[in-house]
Amino acid sequence: MTVVHDVPKQLFIGGGWQDAESGRTLSVDNPATGEELCRVADASPADGRRAVEAAVAAQAAWAATPPRVRSEILRRAYDIIIARTEDLALLMTLEMGKPLAEARAEVAYGAEFFRWFSEEAVRIDGGMMTAPDGKNRLLVTRQPVGPCLLITPWNFPLAMGTRKIGPALAAGCTMVLKPAPQTPLTSLALAAILKEAGLPDGVLNIVVTTDAAGVVEPLLRGGQIRKLSFTGSTQVGRILLAQCADTVIRTSMELGGNAPLIVFDDADLDVAVEGTMVAKMRNMGESCCAANRIYVHTSVAEEFATRLAARMAALKVGDGTEPGTDVGPLIDIAGRAKAHDVVRDAVKRGATILTGGELPEGPGCFYPPTVLTGVSADAAVNDTEVFGPVAALLTFETEDEAITAANATEFGLAAYLFTQNLDRALRVSERLESGMIGLNTGLVSNPAAPFGGVKQSGLGREGGRVGIEEFLEYKYIAVPVG
Ligand code: ADP
Repeated sequence: MTVVHDVPKQLFIGGGWQDAESGRTLSVDNPATGEELCRVADASPADGRRAVEAAVAAQAAWAATPPRVRSEILRRAYDIIIARTEDLALLMTLEMGKPLAEARAEVAYGAEFFRWFSEEAVRIDGGMMTAPDGKNRLLVTRQPVGPCLLITPWNFPLAMGTRKIGPALAAGCTMVLKPAPQTPLTSLALAAILKEAGLPDGVLNIVVTTDAAGVVEPLLRGGQIRKLSFTGSTQVGRILLAQCADTVIRTSMELGGNAPLIVFDDADLDVAVEGTMVAKMRNMGESCCAANRIYVHTSVAEEFATRLAARMAALKVGDGTEPGTDVGPLIDIAGRAKAHDVVRDAVKRGATILTGGELPEGPGCFYPPTVLTGVSADAAVNDTEVFGPVAALLTFETEDEAITAANATEFGLAAYLFTQNLDRALRVSERLESGMIGLNTGLVSNPAAPFGGVKQSGLGREGGRVGIEEFLEYKYIAVPVG
């Protein structure tokens, strides 16, 4: 565990490592064992204010830093992250639980946001035109929105940070990052990497706290933060949107999901089973894009369920650091209880368990891969984001029926469909109310693509060409034609 030992355990403010003013620390635990890994400084509102002041003080100089310089810092950080893949992967496995293979994949995915936005930093452009009446030249330029507050969840400790920090740095914004208190170590390690890559003091500040509400609200009301980028639950997103309304702070919101996955009778079942495994089991199901409701055409329902259950039953559950582990622990006991409650509720309403469904004995927050068939439309799983390895199978007869059921949710982040019929693929993709569609694939996340949702799954997009836009303002300059 030298990897834990080597990570800074303090707040990162103004380019230096500092204890919390109160001297308080919080415990970071390993969900595979329930044991404490280490303690990290636990910020109070006063620490939050100092972090914002550091970001505000650094804003003008960072905005004036040449795009090429900003780009190269990001690119150097990308190189360092890739060179330290093994250490960062192990760190994530220890504090979050995901198996090492998945943690390594997250390092590659997370790092890619830095490479992508290092390439975007030098392509921020504007425009010039003559007004229709010919009297003015209209110059349009782009400027960083200003100091940002970035709030991230625990499920992708590296990628959720780089997906926000990358575009913010590229755009010329300074920032305070508040990672989830369950998984602060990866963010602190990332701060150390950015410092090593040459990031000037105060551009990135990190505040870890168990008092998220107490620290964040005064910062949003303080008048200095110009942008909030949040990833987390819809419930917390609503609270933050209300707070941002008072000081008219720009927001990007990546909120909850309740992804439908539809398997049509004309699907290639091998592809559908494989895609469902990815859509359901990536990150133990702890992803806002995870397939939550799986609708299978009645004519293939039994075969699909049998094949999926065989694949799920073959997965090895265990400590993510052990070789061969496919499924690590869930983040905490509450997360596991939520998954189990969903299973029990479905069974009470007539579902059958094909595999899994039993709470394991012993330490750690493990839950077995579970497949439920015959899930009724009124089961809690239909409107609960499970965030666990539970595949709930429902059936349908007609395309319309499947689409109506898929759209019957306040969420609209990801949706998946499996069909070999091109007309159907496009027609259904267009009618599904979601920001992202996996068409014959279970994986939509890609740093080069615009990630985000519609309805109550959020506002704005991260990644892709548009990701940097969230951190830029337009400025228009009127110049009379002389
Ligand atoms: P999850 O259920 O995945 O933990 P949350 O929405 O509770 O999702 O948390 C996502 C992030 O939001 C975390 O960093 C958490 O500390 C933070 N958070 C939770 N509640 C608040 C709040 N009231 N104000 C600001 N941040 C919050």
